Formats: sequence, C-alpha cells, structure tokens
Amino acid sequence: MHMLHSVLPKPDVLIAGAGIIGLSLALELDARGAKVVVLERDTALAHASSRAAGMLAQNDPHNRPELGSLSALSIQLYPDFLARIKKLGDAEVPLHTTHALQALDDKRVTSLDPLSAEELRGHAPFLAPGDLQFGRLLEHSLDPRELCAALLLAVRASGVVLHEGTTFESVAEREAGGLCVKTSRGDISPGKMIHTQGPWAGAPVRPVKGQMLLVKLPPSLPLREVVRGAGIYIVPRTSGERAGCAVIGASVEHAGFDEQTNAATEASLRARAALLLPALGDAATAPTISTWAGLRPGTPDDLPLLGSLAAEHQFIAAGHYRNGILLAPATARVMADVVEGKSPELSLQAFAPARFS
Ligand SMILES: Cc1cc2nc3c(=O)[nH]c(=O)nc-3n(C[C@H](O)[C@H](O)[C@H](O)COP(=O)(O)OP(=O)(O)OC[C@H]3O[C@@H](n4cnc5c(N)ncnc54)[C@H](O)[C@@H]3O)c2cc1C
Repeated sequence: MHMLHSVLPKPDVLIAGAGIIGLSLALELDARGAKVVVLERDTALAHASSRAAGMLAQNDPHNRPELGSLSALSIQLYPDFLARIKKLGDAEVPLHTTHALQALDDKRVTSLDPLSAEELRGHAPFLAPGDLQFGRLLEHSLDPRELCAALLLAVRASGVVLHEGTTFESVAEREAGGLCVKTSRGDISPGKMIHTQGPWAGAPVRPVKGQMLLVKLPPSLPLREVVRGAGIYIVPRTSGERAGCAVIGASVEHAGFDEQTNAATEASLRARAALLLPALGDAATAPTISTWAGLRPGTPDDLPLLGSLAAEHQFIAAGHYRNGILLAPATARVMADVVEGKSPELSLQAFAPARFS
C-alpha cells in the first residue's frame, strides 16, 4: 500500500469522512476547480448514508423550523445534484415516491389540512380504519443505496482522490502555512480541512441509533406513497430490485456506537407500522427481508454544525441527524462557499459550530 504523500501531497482541501456529506462536498469543490482528497476509515458510504430510509422530508412537521431554508435550497438543488452524478458516473438515481401521507396524530402537526374520507380512500384505501386523520404532502423519496452507488461512481470519475481504509488521526497548523494532517497511512499537507465524520466528528455530535427493516409488501398493499406517523414511517420502493418492498423505520436510541439489531425493536416497529397499515403487523403476510441499524449524527438541538472552526483553515459539516440525505446538496453548496471564503446564499447562524461552547 502506498503512503499518502506520494499521491497528492498538497491538496487544496482534505475532507475526513466519505459519507454523503463528505462526498457531496468533495464533488462540489472539485467542480469549482479545487484539488480535493477524501479520507475514509472504512469503505465509502458504508454507514448511515446507505442505511437511511431516503425520504427527502422537507415538510416533515417534526423538523426544526431553522432547517426550512436549507431544506428548501436542497430540494431546489436536487435535480442538478442527481444530473451531475449521472453525467459523471452514468448512473441514474430514480425517485420512488412523490407524496407522503402524514398522520395527524401529534399536536405539533398543525400545518396540514386533513384529507376527507373520500380523498383518503382514493389515495390509500388500505390505511387503518379508525379515527386517525391524514394530511398529504408533496415530498419525494429515493433509495439511499441507489444514490450511494451512483455517487461513488461519480466521485471515482471526477478529479476527487478518495482513500478508503485511511483514518484521519490529528491535525496541526504548519509554520509554513496550511495544515499538517496525520493519517493512518502517513502525513499530508492540505491548504484546508473539512471534518465530515458524521457521528464520529466528536462532541457535540453524538450517535443516535436507528433500526429498520425491509419487508415484502403483500398484494393487498400496493403502496405508492410514504406513510408516516409519530415515531414511525413506511417508505415503499417502487422500482428496481427492491420494488414491491417497503422500509419500516426507525428506532431512536442513544446507545453509543452500537450498530446491532434486535428482535424486540423489530417487533415494536412492526406493531407501530400496523397501527397505520394493518397488513404489516403479520410477518407471514409481509415477510422481513432484512434488518439493519445506522447511526445518525445527532446534536443537542437536532441541527447540523456548518461552518468554520476556531482553528484556522478548518471547517465542519456534520450533525445532519435525520436529514442528511435531504440536506446533502445544499450542504455542499453552502459549505463550498464558506471554504472558498464567500458568503453563502443563506444564513448559517443557526448552524454555527461554536454555538454549544
Ligand atoms: C435509520 C436511519 C434512517 C434515516 N433516514 C433518513 C431519511 O429518510 N432522509 C434523510 O435525509 N436522512 C435520513 N437519515 C439520516 C442520514 O442517513 C444521515 O444524516 C447522513 O447519512 C449523515 O451523513 P454523514 O456523511 O454526515 O455521515 P456518515 O454516513 O456516517 O459518514 C461519515 C463517514 O466518516 C467516516 N469516518 C469517521 N471517522 C473517520 C476518521 N477518523 N477518518 C476517516 N473517516 C472517518 C465513517 O467511516 C463514515 O463513512 C437516516 C439515518 C438513519 C440511521
């Protein structure tokens, strides 16, 4: 294995962490002409980014209001983001759903008009009978595994240099300017460095575990829209190899860096899903295909850390919690501006990295 300094000794920007945030930002900076190196301790995109449900949940009433403008920018940028990925890597990322049916089962959900019984029968005749009301949101979803596979192809076809199996260890300022970064495979001297290690970015970012399961939908449940209630969502896959299946998620657990699944949590997710879609309660009718867990990068206020750090030439983009797939294109745009010393098009004040210190 070669040492790093023999490859690209002085990149303009070094990015630590090849999740969706690090790689989206790497592509954006590459498109702007920067020489970019990305370090990944494991394999790229192997953690939360490929284990998410894939809702672009811009209108989720449980989102913090401070996310509104960043989410809106991301939705606006998504078509160009996917087009850039397609152009570079030649892989299409299909959207699987266009709408979400949101249960109005929580007092925080005040902004949605309930559908009439007739409208509801038209959209989802198989929803649980009873007095639960639903609103309908224009909101897309994609399969993060398809997105991650295509993004990786795009990165490999771009000028970005990606080193997998390479751990970022420490960083210090160089007297001659720029930084000296120690990695598990030698030192490297970038002009600037961005921390995108997700839940491993260090305090105040911390892991919030989410368990999920993929089930085969029975013929009686031809789901084409996301169905969401308090603490539960069902996200159908409508094309590709997982067509006819749905993701049920997700638990919210403060369990450190544990990525194991367990049968009790799977059963409780099923039970909650069955309150909305009764056919999902029975594993014989809707068999489990796989289960997995991922670590969301959480923060004390559920908002990401976006901006420069106190140490010179260093930046952070981490803590996207439940919305990193949604927020990746906008994060790449605004963070590339910050790294280039330009004012981003929207205020990042709510996301200031120093707000907890
Ligand atoms: C169950 C679940 C469901 C979700 N559903 C959705 C959803 O529907 N919609 C949505 O928008 N978001 C969703 N999310 C959230 C989304 O997945 C995350 O916000 C997003 O993936 C975070 O991306 P990231 O790049 O910051 O982190 P990660 O994907 O965790 O990537 C960080 C990378 O950094 C690497 N790394 C760590 N330390 C080092 C080091 N020292 N040196 C080098 N590399 C290092 C890690 O190996 C990892 O690959 C979900 C998450 C989970 C867990």
